[in-house]
Amino acid sequence: CGIVGVLGKHEVAPMLVEALKRLEYRGYDSAGIATVNGGKLDRRRAVGKLVNLQDLLVHQPLAGKAGIGHTRWATHGAPTERNAHPHRAGKVSVVHNGIIENFRELRAELAECGLAPETETDTETVAMLVSHYLESGLPPVEAASKALGRLEGAFALAFLFDGEEDLIVAARKGSPLAIGHGSGEMFVGSDAIALAPMTDRITYLEEGDWAVVTRAGAEIFDESGAPVQREEKRVRLDQ
Ligand code: GLU
Repeated sequence: CGIVGVLGKHEVAPMLVEALKRLEYRGYDSAGIATVNGGKLDRRRAVGKLVNLQDLLVHQPLAGKAGIGHTRWATHGAPTERNAHPHRAGKVSVVHNGIIENFRELRAELAECGLAPETETDTETVAMLVSHYLESGLPPVEAASKALGRLEGAFALAFLFDGEEDLIVAARKGSPLAIGHGSGEMFVGSDAIALAPMTDRITYLEEGDWAVVTRAGAEIFDESGAPVQREEKRVRLDQ
């Protein structure tokens, strides 16, 4: 299972699928991508191998220069298209590897606000929580960081927002996550292998870190919200 994200100069759908292919070795049961294009979030998801997602994209292309992608290894909810990532609630889309241990408590809390899930996944609860904070008036980065503070468990997460074509918020706790630096482009991936065709300039998030990624670069914060510097490395891999 794996996560990718691209803030690109060109159409990102093919780049996302290519990066997901490089994460196939981890195993998965379904896959999906989301982009924001003309300010609007949209997504395509398919059960089974990446070729199924590619076939879908031939018939229903997904335009956009900002996007996130996911290969899923289901832990909560059957491997169906509905349960496949990216998940969406309101103006946020999210991809997640790992398990949100307290999703039932969070779900119950959201239910009190009249918010009901559409899927069986733990991940959708994260999207619903961020959406709830956005609806309460918080800007995207603040909404994401407030939601991150509520999550228990293991996760690598990447968020994409409606109306934001130059923003991915990414977080790491218990699952690895790498930021890739391009020239006028930025990338997020579960590992450097996923990003190898696009860049070899990698910053690994440390445990509890989260990052605000734009095409200009990445600002990284630790779990307490304090800005931190993490070293950028050249990661050379045989392609
Ligand atoms: N727990 C999430 C799900 O079941 C993410 C699984 C994964 O790591 O791919 O959808």
